[in-house]
Amino acid sequence: MAKQTDAIELQKNFALLIDGKLVETENFLRVINPATEKVFAHCPVADQTHLNTSVSAARRALDAWSSKSYEERAGYIQQLAILLREHKDFLASLLTQEQGKPLSQSVAEIDRGASQSEGIAGIEIPIEALVDDEERYIELQYRPLGVVGIITPWNAPVNLALGPLVSALYTGNTIILKPSPYTPLTTLKMGELMREIFPAGVINFLAGGDELGHEMTKHPEINKISFTGSVETGKKVMASAAGTLKRVTLELGGNDPAIILEDVDPEAIAKKIFFAAFVNSGQVCMAVKRIYAHEEIYEELCSALAKEAKNAKYGNGLDPENHLGPIQNKMQFNKVVGILEDTKKIGARFLSGGTLPDMPGYFFPPTLVTDIDEDSRLVREEQFGPIVPILKYKDVEDAIRRANDTPYGLSGSVWSNDRERATKIAKRLRVGTAWVNQHRATSAYVPFGGAKESGIGRQYSILGLKGYMEPEVLSVVK
Ligand code: NAD
Repeated sequence: MAKQTDAIELQKNFALLIDGKLVETENFLRVINPATEKVFAHCPVADQTHLNTSVSAARRALDAWSSKSYEERAGYIQQLAILLREHKDFLASLLTQEQGKPLSQSVAEIDRGASQSEGIAGIEIPIEALVDDEERYIELQYRPLGVVGIITPWNAPVNLALGPLVSALYTGNTIILKPSPYTPLTTLKMGELMREIFPAGVINFLAGGDELGHEMTKHPEINKISFTGSVETGKKVMASAAGTLKRVTLELGGNDPAIILEDVDPEAIAKKIFFAAFVNSGQVCMAVKRIYAHEEIYEELCSALAKEAKNAKYGNGLDPENHLGPIQNKMQFNKVVGILEDTKKIGARFLSGGTLPDMPGYFFPPTLVTDIDEDSRLVREEQFGPIVPILKYKDVEDAIRRANDTPYGLSGSVWSNDRERATKIAKRLRVGTAWVNQHRATSAYVPFGGAKESGIGRQYSILGLKGYMEPEVLSVVK
């Protein structure tokens, strides 16, 4: 574990960060630990005045920040990664208490956030010479957009804040960040740490409900919204941003298929598929949400996955014995229970789970379902919880058609011992990312985002970074 620095001692009180100052507020929201259902902290809530003050500060800071070189800005981001690692014990414990995921996964989220930040800040964005002949010189360069509003969800608040935040800052923008009202605390603490590094106004951290997010999307002085959340809210964000023609990057939901071909060894892949479906109790945008298994290996795969489900201990994430934590909030718990009830009503077969434990906390056992209709809620909707269908197929063409028969298009995977055949099939998935013999692998250098209704634009990589910039052509007659 990393050592704590003496320089910054983090405490369990929380403040907004506006123009380099920690700001307390009159209004608070109560943050519930989903493993106990008890309020464990109070979080300040920003109002319209806080938002306006933050936006003004971000605009004032823009000139000096955008005038720095990429290398200079990368230097600030490297310091951020160091601070995150130094304080990861504190941050990870806070993340588990507000989000619910096991402590080891909170530590991994912070480690990954730190290394992805370093990765993003190492990407070169060259000026592109398009024409350079006897008559003309034409180049394409990229300028920062200005003030970027970042809005994040509750399933991975650290990672999903750091990706857009570092991308926006590295490319010369200043930012206003608003986390989900369900998980605002770790984000505010990151703001407190970053205050030690970044000049006043460059970073502003607010907390608040959906209304604050809406105010950001229509604010005339915010130039771009980077939004991660549900498809439904993504559409509202885009409609509202249209009023000021803001640029948007939308990272939205998914209903990821995994197609398992007949030549796999079910025992050998079960652990990987189970993890890809149930990590963070299924509350991952790119988790496997539908498993299509060839009839020849179907029964064996069902048994192997059911064994994994039965061995996966769930409970309070602070207890290292537990592999899975609770569902993050009551609203989502009720939604997943609604899908469970529908699945029972239509007579599907349960291989594991399906019965809720009698204990405090939004706990839901890992539940695998078979013999279920393709038109059921569990197959059609993004369940975003620990209940996953296994669907049988005979002809792979039919599996590809069913996998693509959804408005979602975030990602998907194909599993086989024949890599070439699996690759050909993966290329036919209509998704932002198609994996072969893996699922859920991302990197700072590889673009990530959704096809179809799973989003617009990409995060990470040079492609993602260009989404935080305006392309400008310079054309010179010689
Ligand atoms: P959500 O859409 O309900 O909320 C996300 C954020 O938007 C919150 O901060 C919320 O306060 C804010 N918000 C709500 N209404 C708003 C409005 N009208 N205008 C502006 N902001 C508003 O999503 P959630 O329930 O927090 O997160 C779960 C969803 O996020 C799932 O669908 C999941 O798949 C998706 N997600 C996508 C990715 C990705 O990278 N594609 C990653 C993680 C999660």
